[in-house]
Amino acid sequence: MTFPPLREELRGIEPYGAPQLDVPVQLNVNENPYGPSPEAAADIARAVGRAAASLNRYPDREFTELREGLAAYLNSSGGHGITPEMVWAANGSNEVMLQLLQAFGGPGRCALSFAPTYSMYPEYARDAMTEWVVGRREEDFSLDLDAARKLVLERRPTIVLLPSPNNPTGTALPPEAVSALCEAAASYEPGGLVVVDEAYGEFRRAGTPSALELLPRHRNLVVTRTMSKAFALAGARLGYLAADPAIGDAIRVVRLPYHLSAVTQATAVAALRHAPELLGRVEDLRVERDLTVAWLRDQGLEVPDSDSNFALFGRFPDRHAVWQRLLDRGVLIRETGPQGWLRVSIGTPEEMTAFRHALTDVMKEQA
Ligand SMILES: *Cc1c(COP(=O)(O)O)cnc(C)c1O
Repeated sequence: MTFPPLREELRGIEPYGAPQLDVPVQLNVNENPYGPSPEAAADIARAVGRAAASLNRYPDREFTELREGLAAYLNSSGGHGITPEMVWAANGSNEVMLQLLQAFGGPGRCALSFAPTYSMYPEYARDAMTEWVVGRREEDFSLDLDAARKLVLERRPTIVLLPSPNNPTGTALPPEAVSALCEAAASYEPGGLVVVDEAYGEFRRAGTPSALELLPRHRNLVVTRTMSKAFALAGARLGYLAADPAIGDAIRVVRLPYHLSAVTQATAVAALRHAPELLGRVEDLRVERDLTVAWLRDQGLEVPDSDSNFALFGRFPDRHAVWQRLLDRGVLIRETGPQGWLRVSIGTPEEMTAFRHALTDVMKEQA
């Protein structure tokens, strides 16, 4: 016997995970460096305390209050006419993504994205037994729309995954591109969903629109968001989507029973009451992001424009050596993206000063 009798295609695969190292400056997983205020933390604790009194019961399977809160939040931040029926939530937008693949992918179907793209998507496609098809972005990480449309029409995916702002490049897609791909994916049987992953949506620069605005025009458009990044709530695990209510109905078929715990629901509902405050540092982070991009360019490095809370920079002949030497100086960033590039999350001004000093030293050493 082969023990354990693992699925053939999973043999020898290392589990995914960025290193969780205890170093002074952690700029590797795009977390919000600012925790909740003492008032927000106390309110969340009270809400969880109330939920604790009835933990003998299963939670509200329909997470009604949470869906109402999320719809209200989206309508206040660029969405229009989003109703609670259009909202679905799960344990992080990663779970939302897996549920979408479970409901709309499957054997004989494919999911499509354009590289560089979020590294988790191919794993979910594999887990949902869905073929993974990947086109390429241009050298500047933009999308060649004609080529993209052609690939969609050729491969007829049931799911097109478009992170925007993209991870790891930070670049946002123009609404024309999203619309054109929605139209292409609606032109064949059984059609495809276009999922715009706006995990970093709140960090967009002024003038970069959200795909939420396109929802009334495209029935096959799904916009996903998360409370993990701008909302400073990565530890709570809450992601969600807005789309035609038929999408949530389909996911209800595949989701696990009572997938959102009463504790998670209470936490997220309480956090939404503090939205203005939890999101209060987003503006500071955008300013720090623009300063970081400008500084990296001053060092002679290439940096794509960023609409997110991180910057991709390069190129280094030996990026691993740069990553390691930064780590030796107590600064943990991420070795991800195309060969030669590194990604740094935007932290506090103090953390970014530490990053700049460390990188200056490392680049001197390498020169
Ligand atoms: C961080 C991130 C997410 C968020 O994941 P959660 O499961 O909500 O924490 C989703 N998509 C992309 C592209 C991300 O970088």
